[in-house]
This record gives sequence, C-alpha cells and structure tokens, in this order.
Amino acid sequence: MSLKTRDKKHLWHPLTQHQLHPEHIAITRAKEALLYDEQGNEYIDGIASWYTCMYGHCNSYITDKVHKQMQQLDHVVFTGFTHEPAVKLSEALIDILPSNQEKLFFSDNGSTAVDVAIKMALQYHFNNNKKRSKIVALENGFHGDTFGAMSVSGLSVYNGPFKDFSLDVVRIPVPNKQNFEKVKQQYIALLKHNDVAAFVYEPLVQGAAAMQMHEATLLQELLSISKQYDTLNIADEVMTGFGKTGKYFASQYLDTLPDIMCLSKSLTAGIGPMAITTTTQKVYDAFLSNDIAKGFFHGHTYSANPIVCTAALAAIELLKSNKIQDNIKTIIASHKAFNTRIKTHPKVSETRQLGVIFALDVNIVMERYGNLRNQLFSFFMQHGVCLRPLGNTIYILAPFVITKTQLQKIYKTIEAALDML
Ligand SMILES: *Cc1c(COP(=O)(O)O)cnc(C)c1O
Repeated sequence: MSLKTRDKKHLWHPLTQHQLHPEHIAITRAKEALLYDEQGNEYIDGIASWYTCMYGHCNSYITDKVHKQMQQLDHVVFTGFTHEPAVKLSEALIDILPSNQEKLFFSDNGSTAVDVAIKMALQYHFNNNKKRSKIVALENGFHGDTFGAMSVSGLSVYNGPFKDFSLDVVRIPVPNKQNFEKVKQQYIALLKHNDVAAFVYEPLVQGAAAMQMHEATLLQELLSISKQYDTLNIADEVMTGFGKTGKYFASQYLDTLPDIMCLSKSLTAGIGPMAITTTTQKVYDAFLSNDIAKGFFHGHTYSANPIVCTAALAAIELLKSNKIQDNIKTIIASHKAFNTRIKTHPKVSETRQLGVIFALDVNIVMERYGNLRNQLFSFFMQHGVCLRPLGNTIYILAPFVITKTQLQKIYKTIEAALDML
C-alpha cells in the first residue's frame, strides 16, 4: 500500500478539512531545492517548505554538523544547565541581530515564540508595578495558532470556535499613505490610556496575509510612538528573519529597533522545530530581583535542544557566507526581471517584492482554501513546482540555493497557470 493510502488511516493533518481533502502527497526525500514524491516525481520547493529550508533541503554542511552533535550530546535540561551549541548560537545570533538585542529565550515554534514575547511584555510591566493588559496588533497579521498567538492574529475566519477565549487585543489597520494620519491618531488614542503592554507586528511583510507589504517609514513612525508611551514593540520575524528581505532581519530597515523579536522557521534551516524570543538588556533587567516570582517562569522541555541549536548555528554561518549572500542578490535581480514582464499581464492586478519574497495577485476572486485556488495548486504540482497560492496571491519564497534554471521554471509555470485561468 502506498504511503498516501496508509496516511489516511490514522493521520490528522494541520489546516485540513479531511472530508474535502482526504489525500496527501507523500514525499520520500528532498535535496537542495527539490522534493521527491513516492512515485519519483520531483517538485521545485518554491516556498522552501514554509520558508524553513532556506539553505536547501538536507544541506550537507548542516547535516554533517548535526550528525556529529548527535553523537556528542543529544539533549540536556536547559534549566540549571547549559551547553556549547546554545552558547555559540547566542554569540552568532547576537552578532547579526539588530544592535539592541542582548538576551535570547528559547522555545519550540513560532507560536510559542510569540506567546513568550507577549508574556514577557505583560510581566515586564507587572514587574515594574504597572498594570497593562492590552496588546495592539496589526489587522490581518498572523502570529501562530496557540491561544496567545491566535489572539494577536487577525486572520480569524477559521478561529470562530475560539473567539471568546482571546487576550485583550485591539487591531489597527496596516498603515498606508492614504490611511496613515487616521491610523496614527487611533494608535495614539489607544496608547494614551497607558494600558497597552505591547504592539505586535510582522515588520514590512505580513506573510500569511498573502505577503502583504507596507512601507518602512510608516511602520517606523508607529514604533517611535510606542516608545513615547513605554509600550514594547514586538517584531514577529518568524517569517521575515534570516535574509529573506535582503537584510538579515526586516527590523534592520527601521530606525526604531524592536524591544522584543520572535524567530523561528528558517532559524533551524528546517532540521527541527525551535524558536527564540530575543530582547534588550532593559527588558531582561526588569526580571532581575531577589524575589523569585519576578523571574520569567516559562519553560519548554526541549528548550535549546543541542542538536537543533547546532543546525541553527550552521545555518547562520551559511547565511553570512559570500555564496549565500551572492545567491540572495541573484534571486532579487531575477525576481525583478520577472516582475517587469509579469506586472502588465492582463490577469495580474498587483505585484510586490522585498528581497527574495515575490508575490503577485491574480485579478480573479479566490477563496483562501477554495476550489480555484486548489486547481492552481494542482496545476503547479503537475508541472513540478510546489507553490501554495494564498487566496488569489501566488508567491515565491524559494530556498537561497535555488538555481537560475529552477527559478526560470517557476516563472514559466506561473505564466502558464495565468494563461490557463
Ligand atoms: C509561521 C508563523 C508563525 C507561527 O509559527 P509556527 O512555527 O507555525 O507556530 C508566527 N508568526 C509568523 C509571522 C509566521 O509566519
């Protein structure tokens, strides 16, 4: 029996209505930018498996180091103990993070990184004897599926059963040139009550909202307003982190640096789940006390797993390498060239790009998980390209190691798909 058939017996997949979508493609191996299914078909991983495997699948530089680490130290409790992979990773990460980031807190995935950030912000004020219980977030943001992360997310159509179990969150529109004065006034009016603990945002690119982009200068102004009211800025860089925007972090396009940052996804190059919430000395210091209860009592069993830390460290070495930096430049230029030819296509209403992230909107209405979108996905897969449209948005966020030929194949397949629609 094929894996595809055996899968159906016991497995429950994420974000899936199994009655409508009983079948899942079984992938047996992956290398560089390619995925191979059990029939031996190959697919270019145009979204780097949700932007995790940015250095290519099974990158041997990373897997060799991971293999060595597995034989040296698999796991140890990270409360009361430490180890070289975590220490080295902290040094490497601090080296590339925005300059005000000083402290790293480990957890397991993007959602927990956001939950940690929210709890850190709430307790920061609590420890400073201020009662601040509100969080402000951007409309249409996506920050994960745990209760805290879900509360600050704006994509709520599928969250109906949980809407009464949310944190106290106020959402403001994503700023643009037209609405900016209004958004700014709304934000100031909220902050004036002095009960907003934090402002949570995906800097410059809202990933799950279909790679929606906003201008750095406008976000910048909101961040500087937060500062005036001692509201902590939480940059969720789970998607934007590690080179995808053309800088190491999207926050590095902004003058006001975040108080807290959330990292995951390509942090570990796809080797395993891990997340880090980073913060400043100032936030960290608010937790120092002779009173134990002022410490941060949050801890996941697998915090700073040495094997995954090793993968993350190797990934950062690759990210900083000339080869990957050159690849990033090549992909950026390649997307730009594609953009000039596709933006005037009669079926394209808008295109946008930041770094290696490229998105185009098709001018046909498509539901997020609707039929037309599914047809488009199937078309791509049949042509050997794994792209997962978000509603009517087709986006490319391929591994940095993708070849020029593979990129051209993605573009040609998108053009063929547009002609088919
Ligand atoms: C994917 C994502 C998350 C959630 O991460 P998980 O690892 O899926 O829990 C949070 N924030 C952003 C911006 C993301 O893209």
